[in-house]
Amino acid sequence: MKKCEICNGLEWILKEKDGTTLAVRCECHEEKEIERLTSEAHIPPRYQNNRVNNYNAINSNQVIAKKAASNFIEEYPFIDYGLFFIGPCGVGKTHLATAILNEVIQNGYEGKFCDFGQLLVQIRSSYNPVSRFSEMEILSELFRSPLLVVDDFACQRVTDWVLETLTYIIKSLYNERRVLLLTTNINMQEMTTDLFFEQLTDRIGYQVTSRLYEMCHIIPIESADYRKEYASVYHKMQSKKKKT
Ligand SMILES: [Zn+2]
Repeated sequence: MKKCEICNGLEWILKEKDGTTLAVRCECHEEKEIERLTSEAHIPPRYQNNRVNNYNAINSNQVIAKKAASNFIEEYPFIDYGLFFIGPCGVGKTHLATAILNEVIQNGYEGKFCDFGQLLVQIRSSYNPVSRFSEMEILSELFRSPLLVVDDFACQRVTDWVLETLTYIIKSLYNERRVLLLTTNINMQEMTTDLFFEQLTDRIGYQVTSRLYEMCHIIPIESADYRKEYASVYHKMQSKKKKT
């Protein structure tokens, strides 16, 4: 972004009021603030243009999930629950979670994105004596954020070490009343939220699972493959166009 000509990049201007000079925010400040929040959110470029509007809801539970995302954005930051999107690969769970984060940032609020697998790699590599960051530095950066997207949460086999780290992370986020947006891949055949609770408990233990159920609304998204369905709908549209 080029330097503002009004304030010369200072983001403050001087204004006269009742004979005194006051420093007030320049009109460029808000735009700069959003730019800063965006760069600090670490949203992968692939997801930066995701919005609720450009989520293509095909079946009824995608419509419900989309509505839940819109409601969340409308209510934020006056909200005391997060969303936990569960479903098979390709239904757009990450699209909705990152759409919420992008839109909340556009509204001027802070939030961060992290990929669960990458987070574990980062924490593990922090044990390396030559690492630039300690485990605490990595985690405290995340814990400071009022809103946190964790993509592909607990998707891999959970070792004792991961479970210990995870319990610590969730407990801290719970105590700090942070708002979580989670996504996880799960086979939705005959899935119910109770069954999901059981499966998640198997993966990550009762303590973490019950905390998460307290912190988040579970949003199941079942579907045949979203990309495949979308492709076929798109294909139909194209062939219709050709006929007319
Ligand atoms: Zn300015």
